[in-house]
Amino acid sequence: MHICVMGTGYVGLVSGACFAEFGMQVTCCDIIPEKIENLKEGILPIHEPGLQELVDKGLREGRLNFTTDEAKAIEQALTIFIAVGTPAGENGATDMRYVDDVADTIGRYMRDYKVIATKSTVPVGTAKRIRARIEAAQPEPVDFSVISNPEFLREGAAIEDFMRPNRVVIGGEDQHALAIMKELYSPLYLIETPFVITDTTTAEMIKYAANTFLAMKISFINEIANLCDVVDADVHDVARAIGLDQRIGRKFLHPGPGYGGSCFPKDVQSLTHFAQEAGVNLQLATAAHEVNQQQRGRMVEKITGMLGGSVAGKTIGVLGLSFKPNTDDIREAPALEIIAVLQQQGAHIKAYDPVAIPAAQQVLRDVEYCKDSYSTCSGSDALVLATEWNQFRALDLKRVQALLNQPVMIDLRNVYEPETMERLGFRYTAVGRRPRQRDSAD
Ligand code: NAD
Repeated sequence: MHICVMGTGYVGLVSGACFAEFGMQVTCCDIIPEKIENLKEGILPIHEPGLQELVDKGLREGRLNFTTDEAKAIEQALTIFIAVGTPAGENGATDMRYVDDVADTIGRYMRDYKVIATKSTVPVGTAKRIRARIEAAQPEPVDFSVISNPEFLREGAAIEDFMRPNRVVIGGEDQHALAIMKELYSPLYLIETPFVITDTTTAEMIKYAANTFLAMKISFINEIANLCDVVDADVHDVARAIGLDQRIGRKFLHPGPGYGGSCFPKDVQSLTHFAQEAGVNLQLATAAHEVNQQQRGRMVEKITGMLGGSVAGKTIGVLGLSFKPNTDDIREAPALEIIAVLQQQGAHIKAYDPVAIPAAQQVLRDVEYCKDSYSTCSGSDALVLATEWNQFRALDLKRVQALLNQPVMIDLRNVYEPETMERLGFRYTAVGRRPRQRDSAD
């Protein structure tokens, strides 16, 4: 079966490489010629564990191709996946220009029946919008089906998530197209992946409901952590205890600087925006977003508080720039926003990230980028742990202490134990945790 994937970003490239691994013939299409030329040589535009091997294999075995020739890619394929970006537009609305462009292109070049499946996260009603645009762009009427197939992969674990998803959601009104989609995902039937087959509108809704629920969980535990800070309770014990209740679940109860990345921030806002347009006020989603915005400011206050109320003239070392570990994605990364505010307040920033420095260099000015964690500590007045990469979990703390001008650490990801840090002589703060007396059985 021939597949065309429009857009070779995090979702398009991973989907294309994984479908090729399933044995499909895949052509990935993008409008950036340089990206495609590099991909033909096996040079990836993103950092994603395991993706290089999969792309190399697909290229070597001839099942994965890259092109800017949209007409040919569309002509060859039975199923066309839309995986272009849907960034935030004005006032939380979704910027639909890339989806619209792809729909127009598909309409212009399709000559026989196609299944058009949307993997991009798009507001409810987009399947109808895509249908209308394709029909308007067709030189002459050709039959096609529109499917909503939202993607749930997480950056940093994208291959595993695609190959072993918790579920696959397929929305469509046309049995023939649904059968083609099931065929594409047939390798997942073998590992008994649950499938939710529904209509396009519901499938579109599912993606926003899922992301907003997860965002709410993060904002909830961040509010609880902020309260723990004040009343001197330990948020880790709270999160663990409530998470052991199976109705709540343990995941996404990690306090920190708030959610970032290319999905949660824009998806929560998009949901509230299109709900508003439908005359529905989603108060919980709105609150999740507001709490998340405020959390960044709280983290800056924590940092300034540890430096005597002002960071002006101070040097601050920051570990981690990407919005989460195992990715170079810095879109809406808390670290970047926090750094920008600290710089406005007069701080000098030294920073290190295992893979995201080239991306950060495009947007952050006047940062002294370092070659590793320890050179970041050297000569800094405080160390901020902003992204919980594995290599930051077992720092040589004695060495860190010796390199810092003063032993101050602000751990925004709660990686270290407050008691240990205190014992080692650090002035240490985390999110919703303080050193406390426990007996050794803890
Ligand atoms: P991205 O920005 O990394 O990639 C989008 C790609 O589409 C770019 O390479 C761009 O050049 C290309 N493109 C734009 N217009 C095009 C066109 N007309 N034809 C062909 N290619 C075109 O985006 P992403 O992070 O992969 O996200 C894509 C969609 O998937 C978004 O809607 C996003 O919300 C959703 N999503 C993302 C993730 C994630 O973790 N990144 C997870 C699930 C869903």
